Amino acid sequence: MDAMNCPRCRKVFVKRLDPLCPPCMKEEEDIYEKVREYVKDNPDKMIKDVAAACDVTVKRILSYLREGRLSTSAAMHGELLCGQCNKPILTGRMCEKCIMDTNFTVQGMKNDAAIKNRGQIHTRR
Ligand SMILES: [Zn+2]
Ligand SMILES: [Zn+2]
Repeated sequence: MDAMNCPRCRKVFVKRLDPLCPPCMKEEEDIYEKVREYVKDNPDKMIKDVAAACDVTVKRILSYLREGRLSTSAAMHGELLCGQCNKPILTGRMCEKCIMDTNFTVQGMKNDAAIKNRGQIHTRR
């Protein structure tokens, strides 16, 4: 089995799906729970207040929000911005419009590839 160093505590542990060793995963989970509970109980707190109260970085809270693990409270509205157009969003990485646009782009690229592939089959014959 592969062993690796935990990027958080530097201990060696057997590699598995989690990016951290089991004790660190547990700690990370506890921190997340703490933040989640705090936000639920204190909807009037801005991101930086939550960070200070839970002793975590603002970056960490933003990443929870972007991963969709945490929802923005009323006070946080406008603090999380769309990665594409910088419009305030409630959760995730992008606003609905940009998600739609991205989906269209991906779909368009797939269609292009399909047309090219068909062309190749045709020319090979
Ligand atoms: Zn660790
Ligand atoms: Zn957007």
